[in-house]
Amino acid sequence: MTTATPQRLYLLPFGITILPRPTTPLVMSSGCYLVQLSDGRNILIDTGLPAEYTHAVGTPPTENEKSMFQNLADLNLTPADIDTVICTHFDIDHAGNNDAFPHAELIVQRSHYELARSGHERFADGRAHWDHPDLRYRLIDGDTELLPGLTLLETSGHTLGHQSVLLHLPNTGNILLAIDAVSFGSQFTIDRTASPVEDLEQVLASTRKLIDIAEREKVALVIFHHDGKQWQTLKTAPAFYD
Ligand SMILES: [Zn+2]
Repeated sequence: MTTATPQRLYLLPFGITILPRPTTPLVMSSGCYLVQLSDGRNILIDTGLPAEYTHAVGTPPTENEKSMFQNLADLNLTPADIDTVICTHFDIDHAGNNDAFPHAELIVQRSHYELARSGHERFADGRAHWDHPDLRYRLIDGDTELLPGLTLLETSGHTLGHQSVLLHLPNTGNILLAIDAVSFGSQFTIDRTASPVEDLEQVLASTRKLIDIAEREKVALVIFHHDGKQWQTLKTAPAFYD
């Protein structure tokens, strides 16, 4: 029995990338999240790009680039201090260092795990990282309250079995980490579009689900994972939400 509850949320940024576009440039963030519990345990949400992917050829340079490992080190933590890893999905920028957590329990939606394990080419690049034989996955089915104040929300569309996170903090109240169910604030609307690799019908259903939850749960802050313009306004580590 645990009565531990979330006390702090740290946003761990990997940097900002400016992608040129015909009209206005796209300001893209990437990162992961650390949740500290009242009993001192640490939960990491996603693990970031693997080392071989930084400075990828052909992509613009990332400003203030910092890895997941460096972000943890700056908080005096190492991967060994992480008890639980919540895996939102296995895209390479989210699951590229899962193999650094063989001692942790990794939690993923069963439908996503099975899709990726079936050999889907989208997740083949990072497979050595997320499908390492030493890793212990806990497979869950749909919305799941992990502990009081931390609920995993099944939000397919970006990919099957993607999950978002609803978090309750003592002072801030409810925070919704949309992750890639809604990557940019401009997409947090029921008449949005989807990218070619996404399932539009599921994207719309998941967006509507998160809009409803944000309203029903009186969410104080919705964080959009790749919205660099929003991240520039958020508290990032070493600052935290409590
Ligand atoms: Zn992403």
